[in-house]
Amino acid sequence: MSENLIPDGFTDTPQLPGTPWCVHDPRRPLPPVVAPAPADQPYAPPSDAEVLFDGRDLSGWTGRDGKAAWKLGDGFMEVVPKTGDIWTKRDLGDGHYHIEWSAPAVIEGRSQGRGNSGVFILRQYEVQVLDNYQNPTYADGTAGAIYGQFPPLVNACRAPGEWNTYDIYWFGPRFEGDRLVSPARITVVFNNIPVQICRELMGPTQYRKIASYRPHPPTGPLQLQDHNNPVRYRNIWYRPL
Ligand code: MG
Repeated sequence: MSENLIPDGFTDTPQLPGTPWCVHDPRRPLPPVVAPAPADQPYAPPSDAEVLFDGRDLSGWTGRDGKAAWKLGDGFMEVVPKTGDIWTKRDLGDGHYHIEWSAPAVIEGRSQGRGNSGVFILRQYEVQVLDNYQNPTYADGTAGAIYGQFPPLVNACRAPGEWNTYDIYWFGPRFEGDRLVSPARITVVFNNIPVQICRELMGPTQYRKIASYRPHPPTGPLQLQDHNNPVRYRNIWYRPL
């Protein structure tokens, strides 16, 4: 960018620590322009998002035997119990994950047996999906929990059959050789309510065990869980950060 396009700024100001820039530096690169979602469709993907599921096809997804065997409906996909988890063909990493889900309108089961699914970042770290509308379960297995580690700050679940939104801000763990340098950090916003804020995770999700880290790459697929309940998903997108 040519300097003379920038109308103002200062070069006689102090240098900002840790940067080559001075305060109000006109030479500092401008943030890229992104078109946000239209005001009347606040969850539509911003212009720079990678759409992972637009409600029309599962071509970006795979699963057991190389096939995503879930059912496509009118603008959504639905878990077909016993067909297994599905995951993106693409590897994803640090970033913003937007996911919408709805629990079956016909209530069946209780506690962990009702509307259970899950969003696994890097196929390893589960943000719990569960129909917790007037359906209590153990705290660290509640919808919006980091399963087995951190309950959500509040239970923001909508009624069965209604759509819920997750906006997940993920910064994965970093390793040097076998050593953990920094743990994964996650923020989860559930129906516009923050339920996990800059949470430092103990490790990949475990069932009935304490989590711990072992080195792994910074990217991997996004996985959705088949937990034997016909949970629906729609409008899934990702922005690297
Ligand atoms: Mg689950």
